[in-house]
Amino acid sequence: MGEALHRRSFLAACCLSITTALAPRCARAETNARWPDERQAGPFLIHADFSLEEYAGMVRELGALQDDLARYLQTGPAREYVHLYLFRKKSTYNNYLKQYFPTAPSRRALFIKGRGPGMVFAYKNKELDVDLRHEATHALLHSSLPMVPLWLDEGLAEYFEAPPQSRAHDNPHLKSIRWSLRFNSPPSIDTLESFRDLSEMGRTEYRNAWAWVHFMLHGPSAGRDELLRYLADIEAHAVPGSLSRRLHQRIPRLEKQFTAHFASWRK
Ligand SMILES: [Zn+2]
Repeated sequence: MGEALHRRSFLAACCLSITTALAPRCARAETNARWPDERQAGPFLIHADFSLEEYAGMVRELGALQDDLARYLQTGPAREYVHLYLFRKKSTYNNYLKQYFPTAPSRRALFIKGRGPGMVFAYKNKELDVDLRHEATHALLHSSLPMVPLWLDEGLAEYFEAPPQSRAHDNPHLKSIRWSLRFNSPPSIDTLESFRDLSEMGRTEYRNAWAWVHFMLHGPSAGRDELLRYLADIEAHAVPGSLSRRLHQRIPRLEKQFTAHFASWRK
């Protein structure tokens, strides 16, 4: 598998596919150095240059993220540890990335997956927990599946970045998609599926990817069933085909069902 880098900007999560340009200059330094606070939470090995005492709740919740994914998606456990590197200051974070990943763009949080274990980088800010859940979702998906289609990767990360109690009913995307559906047709899942590069995805596309994930998880049961079958095929290294085609085959009048789902979904 090629390396993948997922980065989160101030306005919307965004990612970039890369080849070898982002290979760490010194991977040893990444894993062997001692950090002021180091903890383990599930498959995550957390290294922070500040005390994580005040983040104990967030750390606990991260540890539960794998169980959340397994419960919703029936994906297997991570096959490897994921390293989370947390910085107190944005400038330290930027300098660190510049040193080890000189070509990585400087954004609020990053997921980098090369041939070795996945790595997430982030710095202290008021949405650190959201950033970490988003990037950690990418990390878990990529540690248990041989590949994840770009749009689905982002749709799932957008879904699981919300705190557990807010995911189904209280994501900011919910209001936006419902408003959009008052005037517009449902967003095309075929278009989402055609994206090959994250530069093709802006805030609206992230919302649309989230909305199709929400529909599959909380709409007609055939939607979730098909998503699970699709992910199981990927996990088994079978050729999964197109998820949109599979959904069209399973759910008659798919777009109408999508609109009906959000019309009847209440906060
Ligand atoms: Zn992302």
